[in-house]
Amino acid sequence: MSEYLIFQILLILVFCLAIIIFPTLLVIPAPYGRHNRPGWGSQINASLGWAIMESPAPIVFAFCFAIGNRKTEASSFLFLVMWLAHYIYRTCVYPYQRRSRRKQMPVIIMLMAFLFNMINGYLNGRYLYTFAPEYTSYWIRDIRFLGGLGLFIIGFAINLHSDKVLLQLRQEVKKDYEIPYRGLFKYISCANYFGEIIEWLGWAVATWSWPGFAFFLFTVANLFPRAHQHQKWYRKEFPDYPKKRKAIIPFVY
Ligand code: NDP
Repeated sequence: MSEYLIFQILLILVFCLAIIIFPTLLVIPAPYGRHNRPGWGSQINASLGWAIMESPAPIVFAFCFAIGNRKTEASSFLFLVMWLAHYIYRTCVYPYQRRSRRKQMPVIIMLMAFLFNMINGYLNGRYLYTFAPEYTSYWIRDIRFLGGLGLFIIGFAINLHSDKVLLQLRQEVKKDYEIPYRGLFKYISCANYFGEIIEWLGWAVATWSWPGFAFFLFTVANLFPRAHQHQKWYRKEFPDYPKKRKAIIPFVY
């Protein structure tokens, strides 16, 4: 079997996975964070789990860049910077910021995310640096690249800021959970997820690629149901929860 065939099978797998997890996660919340519960096997410290499960994404992507044949194009370099900016934050900085001895996550969740990040890093990295038709030097002036990059930066900024609001809230109130009011949390319960979705939409547009689009779709399929679950949870736990606040898209849902 050729490597390209394996690549195509994995790509189709990610699309299928997105279609399967969307309805599944609407009914069965992924058991980590506030939705963690008994019955999911051995547990691991959650911050360590985050660092381990996210680590294949930057490593595999950077490896694909190193062995690929598209190193000299400006777009190749910019894609590398975008991907690593997100994943160095998610792998090294975020787990450290949210460190806590108490919080656990199921090992099975960590392993599934580890596997997904390996496949996703491979699909995106291998496509951009080997299998894609060449991105010419004009690509970085193309409206799709510029628009996608703009969306990516805005989404990343929202995601970073919203993660920070939540982590600061926990330190300030010295309780497990409190109602967040800062930033986009005024309008939506899951501003961090909204930022993440905008970010990977930007990536899909900037790379104009099937692996980019598959990852965007997977992110939506993962985070929409989770936002729906968070929203339900907030309303149940806090009777004074702002009534007009939406789950994930300001003024819409
Ligand atoms: P959550 O919003 O559930 O939690 C983020 C952090 O903030 C956790 O440490 C959580 O604690 C804490 N927290 C959340 N809400 C409150 C609150 N009301 N009061 C106090 N502390 C709070 O996000 P996830 O853990 O699901 O995701 C973390 C990041 O990873 C996000 O930025 C998300 O976008 C990204 N992500 C991306 C995915 C993708 O498919 N691309 C998939 C999943 C996540 P605790 O853990 O104890 O609940």
